[in-house]
Amino acid sequence: MDILEQKVKALVSDKDAIYRLLTFEKNRRGLSSKELVFVGTAIVAMYHWCPTKSYMLSRLNELKYFTIYLQDRILYSYSLGYINEIPSKLKEKVLDIGNNITLKDVEKILKEKSVELEEQLKDNITSWTGEEGYKVTIIERSLAIIHYGNIKLAYINPTLKYGIRKKFELKAKELNALIVDFDSLPPKIRGIVLEAMIKEKYPTVRWNFEWNKYVVVAEPDGLTEDIVYEFKTTKNMRTYGEIFKAAEAQADIYGYFFRRKRKKIQTYILSENKLLTINKNINKGHAEETLASFLKIDKCREFLKPEKWKCKICELRNKCPAV
Ligand code: SF4
Repeated sequence: MDILEQKVKALVSDKDAIYRLLTFEKNRRGLSSKELVFVGTAIVAMYHWCPTKSYMLSRLNELKYFTIYLQDRILYSYSLGYINEIPSKLKEKVLDIGNNITLKDVEKILKEKSVELEEQLKDNITSWTGEEGYKVTIIERSLAIIHYGNIKLAYINPTLKYGIRKKFELKAKELNALIVDFDSLPPKIRGIVLEAMIKEKYPTVRWNFEWNKYVVVAEPDGLTEDIVYEFKTTKNMRTYGEIFKAAEAQADIYGYFFRRKRKKIQTYILSENKLLTINKNINKGHAEETLASFLKIDKCREFLKPEKWKCKICELRNKCPAV
């Protein structure tokens, strides 16, 4: 994270001030503080998995999406030269920063990010340390080395062909790392490691769009001049169909807002070790329908009968009004 980003993150870390600004922003839009306004695309698209979950998670995450909205408007305004310095306090006038940013400006930011990504891709090794203390190093998108205290684990990209897999098994041994399967990886990093290896690399940018009373924060997994890219992982073919419905709606909403024509959705199915790829045109009608259905449940709060198997694995089941 660069210094500028750190500065803006520090600025928006005052939760009480952010909450006050959120209420002020809603009021100046002519809405009550109880109205849901700031939402995220992935959670809205989850309507196709479970409408109740989509609504509940949106409520729980509104402050987070408002913070992102504010942060991006300040950071982009500075990068684009619309403001000369990052404000030092969260006063009401910060809400006006970013009013003049256009989609063309956001495309400029995306271009800068494409150049940065090209540079990063020249490097065949990426590593990071997670909040939980795991240090992860990914070599050639094929071998993950996970350090945790004295433990050193290796996980090999499951989609590799036999010969290449052998090469990385040798590499893991050279590094004195114990090769483990997916289920033996620490749960908190399983998804991230898999994504780092399998997800295709495209530039992307985050921005927010007004639709009806909502401000929808959108950050595709990838965004080129022509396509929106979305990547998911799922356990098995049973869950695939349902996950895909939500992923498709998500990609359609991105395409609708960022004005792209095509979508590419990839889903990695763990039990089958299969990567399914779908290329299709963006369906703007589907994007609008999803947003409208979400608005309806937000207004009516008529929670549909749950599908039992989804409820069994749902983290919200203890506080869900539909169960
Ligand atoms: S418990 Fe069931 S109905 Fe409720 S949010 Fe979760 S999946 Fe949806």
